[in-house]
Amino acid sequence: MNTKYRRVLLKLSGEALMGDRSFGIDPAVVQTIAQEVAEIVCDGVQMAIVVGGGNIFRGIQGSAAGMDRATADYIGMLATVMNSMTLQDALEHLDPPIHTRVMTAIAMQEVAEPYIRRRAIHHLEKGLAVIFGAGSGNPFFTTDTTAALRAAEINAEVIFKATRVDGIYDADPEKNPNAKRFNTLNYDHVLAKNLRVMDITAFTLCKENDIPIVVFDLSVPGNIRRAVMGESIGTYVGG
Ligand code: UDP
Repeated sequence: MNTKYRRVLLKLSGEALMGDRSFGIDPAVVQTIAQEVAEIVCDGVQMAIVVGGGNIFRGIQGSAAGMDRATADYIGMLATVMNSMTLQDALEHLDPPIHTRVMTAIAMQEVAEPYIRRRAIHHLEKGLAVIFGAGSGNPFFTTDTTAALRAAEINAEVIFKATRVDGIYDADPEKNPNAKRFNTLNYDHVLAKNLRVMDITAFTLCKENDIPIVVFDLSVPGNIRRAVMGESIGTYVGG
């Protein structure tokens, strides 16, 4: 298969696993995502995935409720491990199974491998899907920043930011019916116009390392494949 990208980092927010629920994981949604990922892996695309945890716990909310921020962030990171293991299970239950490794930035060797950069690359080269759990392992960061960091470390060609909206708009499309979606944007435009693609730390890492970001709607079937083929879906942000 002649895909545009050979090594991709897919960022899934925790909310993407929630479906229509207000909390937690919808197994049917995870199953659908796993099938879409599997198709791409079967085509020989190397797929690394960073999963968020916002469907279960966000550190900043814990902190607002009076918790110590670092402690709350560690809980958020643990939430990402639950999501990562759920996605691994779905991938490995497919027929044929997609062999998957969860690698965590916080050691928990009974359930996942520790994150070791060279080993992650080795798994990818062997055709395994690799899921990075526990974020960056550091409080005060996000899984978007983790996605940018891991993408840079493993030399991913692109970050796919799969969300619930179909790209970046010049205004909030839910409030403004005239809001326009950008097909492409460059990093400087995003900063100058103060557009929200990722948090600023994550975005800066992408810009400095020249990693393009494709933002698209995960709920449209086939969108991961379209993104891998380089079709114009959502918004492409690059240099
Ligand atoms: N988190 C963290 N450090 C990291 C990544 C995540 O402390 O490197 C914590 C943080 O509390 C965050 C939570 O994990 O709120 C869940 O991650 P995130 O909010 O990025 O998930 P998403 O919004 O993508 O579901």
